[in-house]
Amino acid sequence: MEPRVCVLSGGTGTPKLLRGLRELEADFFVIVNTGEDRELLGLHISPDVDTVLYTLAGIVNDETWYGVDGDSFRGHEFLRERLGVDESLRIGDVDRAFKQYRTYLMKCKGMRLSEAVDELRRRLGIRWKVYPMTDDRVVTIIVTDEGEMHFHEFWVERRGQPSVDDVRYDGSEEASAPSEAVDDLLRSDVVLIGPSNPVTSIGPILSISDLRHAIREKPVVVVSPFIGNEPVSGPAGKLMRAVGFEPNVRGLIDYYRGWGIDPDVLIMDERDDVEPPEDVEVVRTDTIMKKEEDSIRLAKEVMSVLREVSRA
Ligand code: GDP
Repeated sequence: MEPRVCVLSGGTGTPKLLRGLRELEADFFVIVNTGEDRELLGLHISPDVDTVLYTLAGIVNDETWYGVDGDSFRGHEFLRERLGVDESLRIGDVDRAFKQYRTYLMKCKGMRLSEAVDELRRRLGIRWKVYPMTDDRVVTIIVTDEGEMHFHEFWVERRGQPSVDDVRYDGSEEASAPSEAVDDLLRSDVVLIGPSNPVTSIGPILSISDLRHAIREKPVVVVSPFIGNEPVSGPAGKLMRAVGFEPNVRGLIDYYRGWGIDPDVLIMDERDDVEPPEDVEVVRTDTIMKKEEDSIRLAKEVMSVLREVSRA
């Protein structure tokens, strides 16, 4: 029997792996970070949820892992050039229509985020369930020497320059997960923490207590987003240091243990020369996913680990 897998995801590393799991037609569902959600010109923006939906629908822009493949930007340019409105995010025309429809479902039809996401999922013909981590407002705040800011401001507008003192998930103590996500998680065989930024993509998910408690009951497999003392891309290294962990596989395992989650298997890159913790089972392989074939190859290896772990 194939295991039923709960995947925790951000918006770049794990979607690359989801692209492979999708091709294998694996049995999984995804719980996605919403700590970077916000409103822009009245549109509800849920960057990681959208990347996961576009990935599973086979329409993601897999150069940037943001937006829809082949999208045009006439709306964005019209806003800037004719109306003098500079959106801080370059939203494509199709992507904008998609976000507009979700905003309509939420604002005019009164749907919760998870209901609107499920409606969009069905309309896109995606068979795998996708759950935002919460319907409540949880915002990842980057505390820097230049003040507190939203992740988008830190990473996109300020290009990750400010030095970081801490990271907070505002609203997470009062937030709860969609009940369907918790039910599905409790019924799953194994949790896969993809190669996402631990601090800004997975941490927010674990900050929701009902998800954290359910995950503690399950076998957990982690794919590392680090090679040596650097993340494959993005600010994960700087953010890990800011919250007191090494930016490598040791820090990764310590970080999850700090949440009370003890990974059963660590899948790390074969080029990584950092000594992993002794008390975790390690599988080494090529974890870099440039093309779809890479995603499929890694997804096959991950599935064989998940099968083993869920049988044990
Ligand atoms: P975000 O929401 O855009 O920050 O995306 P994620 O948190 O899902 O992914 C960002 C993380 O993915 C970074 O820490 C990268 O190191 C990692 N990453 C990106 N591409 C790859 C890859 O091909 N392989 C591995 N192992 N990690 C990757």
